[in-house]
This record gives sequence, structure tokens and C-alpha cells, in this order.
Amino acid sequence: MEKILIFGHKNPDTDSICSSIVMEKIAKHYGLDAEAVRLGNINKETEYALNHAEVESIREISDVQEGQKVILVDHNEKEQSVDCRENAEIIGVLDHHRIASFETATPLYYISKPYGCTSTLLYEIIKKENIELDKQIATLMLSAIISDTLLLKSPTCTQKDKDAYYELEEFLGINAEEYGLEMLKAGTDLSIYSADEVINLDAKEFEANNKKIVISQVNTADIDDVFVRREELEFAMEKQIADRKLDLFVFLITDIINTNSKVIALGEQKEVVEKAFNVKLDENDSAMLEGVVSRKKQVAPPILEVL
Ligand code: MG
Ligand code: MG
Ligand code: MG
Repeated sequence: MEKILIFGHKNPDTDSICSSIVMEKIAKHYGLDAEAVRLGNINKETEYALNHAEVESIREISDVQEGQKVILVDHNEKEQSVDCRENAEIIGVLDHHRIASFETATPLYYISKPYGCTSTLLYEIIKKENIELDKQIATLMLSAIISDTLLLKSPTCTQKDKDAYYELEEFLGINAEEYGLEMLKAGTDLSIYSADEVINLDAKEFEANNKKIVISQVNTADIDDVFVRREELEFAMEKQIADRKLDLFVFLITDIINTNSKVIALGEQKEVVEKAFNVKLDENDSAMLEGVVSRKKQVAPPILEVL
């Protein structure tokens, strides 16, 4: 039987990695030969989660061969997906994002819910289908929910995410808040990364109105820890704009303790950010966005609307 590849978006976050592995388990339950793979490096936060779940490794791929069957988790947009995706046959999507840049030649399973995390919808499937829960996949799903909802504090968090979080916490018999804070903190140590790596850790590309933009986000416990590197970060952003012919590069530094963000915007279309948030960029091309933590719900929609 042909092997099905399962993967999340490029610059994978904890949800993309964990949900791929959980989805592999679900696919195998249905007798499918499936392998979770990844489209990029594992960040420190995800590494923390994988260690706790005792996952040894997950193979990296960069493109797909003609006819490869794939299942997408945590994304659907072409710009965020595997290179040469047109080669692949997409047999399933499990996602919680807007649908854009997506079409297929053949019918497929497409499950999308407006939840805070892909793993929440996978947890629903596992419960409904009576698939056996074990410590590993429970840890992976809880980690993904903590990451995507910033410990249930993000405006993207729904009651379904909360229900799954508390049920998984109980199943695992751990203190999810303590575990989650340690996991999120593990992801905030950016000192080991070059400026170029920092701006690409969690970067997503979008296209609208024939304009190409990137919205990148990092988490921190102290915005100044990241903002002191503004000059080298801006240099790296300018390079991305030139190399990838971007119209706008938005970099969000998100304070996970106080739940707000500082934005740095560069590119021809940077005034789009001023209009979208009704703010003025200061002499450092930056502005505070109070209460803003979610790219999906609070940042991408107003920017794509103004663009
Ligand atoms: Mg994601
Ligand atoms: Mg997600
Ligand atoms: Mg994310």
C-alpha cells in the first residue's frame, strides 16, 4: 500500500507537528499506511513538547513527488504548504484556518472547524470514533492546545478547546498550567537564533490583491528582550523583502504574560498596518498593539482587508 504523508505548515509550530503525529495515529486506526512528516525545523517550544511525549523524531521533507497522497493538518493555503504541492493528491485536510489558495482535482475529506487548535478537532474525532487515547497522543494534543491558545488566553480559544484541555489534563494527571508555562517559556529563548532565524521561526506568507506579504510572530515573556535586536531584525526583514519580492513584512513580538504585541512593519505597503490597526508607526517602524496576540484572528484579517 502506498504511504500517505501527513504534514502541517512550513515553519511548523507545535500544533502543526503534534497534530501531524496524532493524525498518523488516527489514520493507522483506519488501516492506512501513514507517516507524519514536517516542513521545516522544530522550534524549542515544540521540542519541549516532543520530549515530554517521548517522540523520538519526525522526518523532514521539502517537496513531494507526482501522485503522492497527502493529508494536510493545521493549514490549507498553498503558500504555506509543501513545495510542488500540485504534484500531490490531497486526500484529507484537518484545519482551523480560513480557506484560501486551495483547490483539488479529486474529492477529499475536508474537516475544518473554527476552533483555537487543530488538535481540538482531532481530539473530538478520537472521542467520537472510540480511538484509544494514550499518554503520548494526549500529551501532544494538550501541548498543541496550550500553544495555539496561549494557555486558553487567546481570543481564538473556544469552549471546545477548553473542554479538550481540561479532559486531557485530567487524563494525564498533570497540572496543565504549570506544564504549559514551562513549555511556552522554552519557546521564548531566542538568544540562540540569528536575526534571520528569529524572523522565520513562525512566519506565514499570504497573498491578496496580487500583493505578497509575510506575517511573522515570536513569543516572549518580555518584549524588550526581543526589541533590543531591532536593527539586526530589520536588516533581516529587508533582505526577505528583497529576496522574496514582498510588499510587506510584519513582525509581531507577542508578550505571552501580558497578552499584547509590539509590531515592526517594513516594506512598500507598511502604511497598511497603520490603517489596519489605527496606529502610527514610530521612528522605529513599530507600534504597540494592546490586547493583540492572535495572528489568525486579530492581525491577518485586518491587514488582508486593507491590502
Ligand atoms: Mg499553526
Ligand atoms: Mg494551529
Ligand atoms: Mg501559531
